Amino acid sequence: VHRLALQFERDFVGRRVVATSPQGRFAPGAALLDACTLEASRAVGKQLFLGFRAHDGRPDDGLWLRIHLGMYGAWDFYGRISPISSAAPAFGSIGAPRARRAVRIAEYETALDPRSAGDGEPPAPVGQVRLRLLAKGCEDGTGPAWSLADLRGPSACEVLDADAVHRIVAGLGPDPLNDDNDAARERFVAGVARRAVPIGRLLMDQSVVSGIGNVYRAELLFRAGLDPFTPGRAVHEDRLAGLWADWSTLLARGVSAGIMLTRDEVDPDDVARARQHPDLRHWVYRRQGEPCRRCGTPISMALLGQRKLYWCMVCQA
Ligand SMILES: [Zn+2]
Repeated sequence: VHRLALQFERDFVGRRVVATSPQGRFAPGAALLDACTLEASRAVGKQLFLGFRAHDGRPDDGLWLRIHLGMYGAWDFYGRISPISSAAPAFGSIGAPRARRAVRIAEYETALDPRSAGDGEPPAPVGQVRLRLLAKGCEDGTGPAWSLADLRGPSACEVLDADAVHRIVAGLGPDPLNDDNDAARERFVAGVARRAVPIGRLLMDQSVVSGIGNVYRAELLFRAGLDPFTPGRAVHEDRLAGLWADWSTLLARGVSAGIMLTRDEVDPDDVARARQHPDLRHWVYRRQGEPCRRCGTPISMALLGQRKLYWCMVCQA
C-alpha cells in the first residue's frame, strides 16, 4: 500500500482527475471526486488515503478517498507510470519510465500486457472496475500524456471528510514508515505489553501496529525466535522493541524492492532470484512440512486469528 501511495504521488498528485465508476457501484463517490485535483497520497498500514481538492474549492474543504484492498482488491495502472523506487524495478517491463507500461499492484505486483493500453489511448475498462481515475495533460512528448488507475474488488472504498479520516487514523496502531520515532515504538510496546493475547495475534491487530499481514507476522516471529503463542505480556520489552525495529526494516525493504523479502540475502542477484521464485523469499511462510532453513525441523502450521500461521517449533521455542 505504501508503493501504491508512492505511485499516486508520482503520477497523479497535482493533477485533475476524471473519476468514473465503470461498474456503477461507486457512481455517487466517483461523481464527488470527478474533476477534482489530487493533492495528497498517503498510506497508513493497509489503508490508502487519497486527498482531493475541488477544482474551485478551498484547501480546507477537501475530500478523502479511503481504500482498503482486502484480500482480493487491486489497482491496475496504465499509461505514464513512473518508477517508484531507486531499487531495481520489480519487473523488466516496468523499468523504462517513459515507455508504455501496465502494472497491477495488489498484495503482489504483476506486469500486465502493455498492449492492453491500446494505441496510445486509455484502454476501455475490462470487467468489474469499481473506480477509474484518469489524469490527462502531461504533454512532454516522451510517452503517454495520461495516467490511468483502475480499482477492482476493494473491501473498502468510500469518500470521507478530513475529520472522519483523522478518527480512522487515530484508531490505527503506528506505522513505522510514517512514525519512525521513539514514541511510535513505545506505543507499540505498550499495546502489547499487558495483553494476555498471543503475540501472533497482536501483530496482526491493526490497532496495535499497522500493516502487518500474514506473511510478515510469520516471518517477524521467526526472525525474533519467538513462539507465536506467547502472551504479549510475557514478551520482554526489549524483544518487543526489537520486533518493532525489524518490522521497520522489513517494511522499508518491501517498499523498495516491491516484494516481501524477509530472508537476509539481499544482494542484487539474490533479490533478482527471489523475484522469480516466491519460495525463496521467506523463512517459514507457506513452508508447512518443509525443513526449517536453520535447523531442519519440519515447519508447523496452525490457525491463529483465523489465518494460517507458520513457525518452527525448535527455533521458536
Ligand atoms: Zn528451526
